[in-house]
Amino acid sequence: MIEFEKACDLIFENCHTLETEKRLIEDAVGFALAEDIVSPINVAPFRNSAMDGFAVKSAWLDKCSADSPAVIPISSTSFAGNPASINNTDTHTLKVMTGARVPDEFDAVVPFEDTDYGENEVRFFKPTFQGKHIREPGEDITLGRKLFTKGMVLSRLDIGILATIGLRSVMTVRKPSMTILGTGDELTEPGNELIGDKIYDANTFAIYSLVSPFCGIADRICRVADTKEELEKALDSPHDVIVTSGGVSMGERDLVTKVAESCGWRRVFHKAKIKPGKPVYFAVRGKQLLFGLPGNPLSATVTCSIFLIPALKKMAGYADYRLATKPAVLSPDSVRKSKRKLIWPGLFNSDSGRTIASFSSQKSSAALTALQGTDGLIIQKATSGVTEDMTVETIPWSQILI
Ligand code: AMP
Ligand code: MG
Repeated sequence: MIEFEKACDLIFENCHTLETEKRLIEDAVGFALAEDIVSPINVAPFRNSAMDGFAVKSAWLDKCSADSPAVIPISSTSFAGNPASINNTDTHTLKVMTGARVPDEFDAVVPFEDTDYGENEVRFFKPTFQGKHIREPGEDITLGRKLFTKGMVLSRLDIGILATIGLRSVMTVRKPSMTILGTGDELTEPGNELIGDKIYDANTFAIYSLVSPFCGIADRICRVADTKEELEKALDSPHDVIVTSGGVSMGERDLVTKVAESCGWRRVFHKAKIKPGKPVYFAVRGKQLLFGLPGNPLSATVTCSIFLIPALKKMAGYADYRLATKPAVLSPDSVRKSKRKLIWPGLFNSDSGRTIASFSSQKSSAALTALQGTDGLIIQKATSGVTEDMTVETIPWSQILI
């Protein structure tokens, strides 16, 4: 039985970042960048108007007022994408629509609503100043600015930024393909009638929904019988990662480790000093990974969260693939004796600048309701008794699931 930290190290040592692939920007949300992104242009690319109005030399309006407006003849009109060609900028104002180029000879734009909106000549009633309502080149993004670094995961907010600098595609890292197998003669697919001693397969659905943001293809197979033949067939998947639930404990029909090792998988570890999830199994075959998660549904969910998801993130090129924990004080009524490291869902509350963590009151590793309404996982070191102000580590779901 190995320590939690050792198990994490062994998993990371054995999982490799997958190859890069070019993706259209609209298909790149949730993928990690395989390259730094440096802006090849200035945004705005040229000097343009931020308002519909008149381009002026601000000095023209220095002395104007409501009683004594400045009256300036209008030369022409420039539209966004359609500039006017003019040669009388010393004497005439130019009508400019939002986004239209503003010639260098003008240093301000006065919005229509601040004028009498004249036709051949226009009246200005108050002074303006240099740069007013003009967007300078590079005002938002300067040419050469590094906007994204390799390993960053693109969010839905980022795609517009890639488009604005003219990128049609980016280099990303492929996400792993995956087969999720629910082992156990007792399993039946939700939706079927529950007969005899069957139970519904919760784990393949729970795992599927937890991992889907980090996977390419994910095949889910609900019921693999506890026989050598069926397991052999099911484990013979070409995908990058194979995940099983159940069949890794001490039971007479817990065959996953034995069958896997008889068909070419090499054991990296079996059993970790954690609760829940002690029977967790990890093996490799070439570049393929096999995660044997325990059958108890909370154990499967917790081990999926702490071992499988970080591994998938590493394979998918995420720079932040490791679990980042934050210290908290464990609520005294929450301390639980445990010979193994306790990694259990719970609540985080802030109290005078400290975070107070308390475990979900549901204490069974078979009970998925222990997850409901919780803020994340709490890691409590092995302890034989209650201690005052015990420090624990916390990981919010938002960090695990994104
Ligand atoms: P095992 O590790 O196969 O002995 O399973 C431990 C417990 O988890 C047993 O009570 C199983 O019935 C239950 N179990 C196994 N697989 C699943 C699953 N996919 N969904 C819900 N419960 C499961
Ligand atoms: Mg079983």
